Amino acid sequence: MLAKQGWRIATKLDSLVSKLYKGRYFRYSTFLKAETGHNSSWAWRSLLEGRKVLEKGLLWKIGRGNSVRILEDPWIKNSLPIATVQNQIPNTQLEWVNQLINNNRQWDEHTITTNFDPDIATRILQTEIEEGEDRLTWAREASGTYSVATGYKIAYHFFHPPMEQLPKVCRDKKMWKALWSLRCAPKIKVFIWNACHDGLAVRGRLNKRFHNIPNVCPRCEEAEESVNHCLIQCHLANQTWQLPPVNHLIQALETQMFWKWWSHVVHQSNHTTQGTKNVVLAAVLC
Ligand SMILES: [Zn+2]
Repeated sequence: MLAKQGWRIATKLDSLVSKLYKGRYFRYSTFLKAETGHNSSWAWRSLLEGRKVLEKGLLWKIGRGNSVRILEDPWIKNSLPIATVQNQIPNTQLEWVNQLINNNRQWDEHTITTNFDPDIATRILQTEIEEGEDRLTWAREASGTYSVATGYKIAYHFFHPPMEQLPKVCRDKKMWKALWSLRCAPKIKVFIWNACHDGLAVRGRLNKRFHNIPNVCPRCEEAEESVNHCLIQCHLANQTWQLPPVNHLIQALETQMFWKWWSHVVHQSNHTTQGTKNVVLAAVLC
């Protein structure tokens, strides 16, 4: 909804709300270029958050070309702004799109082909020049008008980055599926999840925030108490993992990361009834 409101402010310049915000926050600029400013209201800061989504789906339609900047603004279909594709253009005088349009309202082919990479030049020459002023459209809809549905899709990808960008621990889908389907108390599953994400209140971690708490393991007093140390390496933990039937699940696994250990446990279970029971037992023992 914030993106939708941002869309209205960016495109309906005559609306009261657009005028109000312009007067206060971007008098000499545009909504898309406006900055947070001092003493800005919560509503304004929220709108700027919504703008992050909006920016990902906007496309300028070129009319006169005098309000669209060549490098920074999105105006070439199915392409990121030129600045992200081609770092610079040889003629530094070129700033606005109308400088690429000749007196006959056609693309100035010579200027374009001598200043841009061939792929970008081709895309520019394929871009339509319309009558009238430049206008902002929403590229994700054929109508060109912002819709909450397509905005939501962008927001979803924005806040849920692709799997390959997530830390390795989050990517092991099989491991998480196995964890959440274990037949044991939810709090045990949550505990394992926290351990995998290094989110337990172990002394090594507490010490980083509260220096008066020693970081050493209170049981063995030999090493820093990390999640890994506490649940696997410390002698008491280690003795537990030597006992059947969990001993064959664990085997000798040298790792500094609990989640790798847990992933190993899950993958060793072979998904038999006994194997799954052993995983539950390992979770309870943790
Ligand atoms: Zn210890």
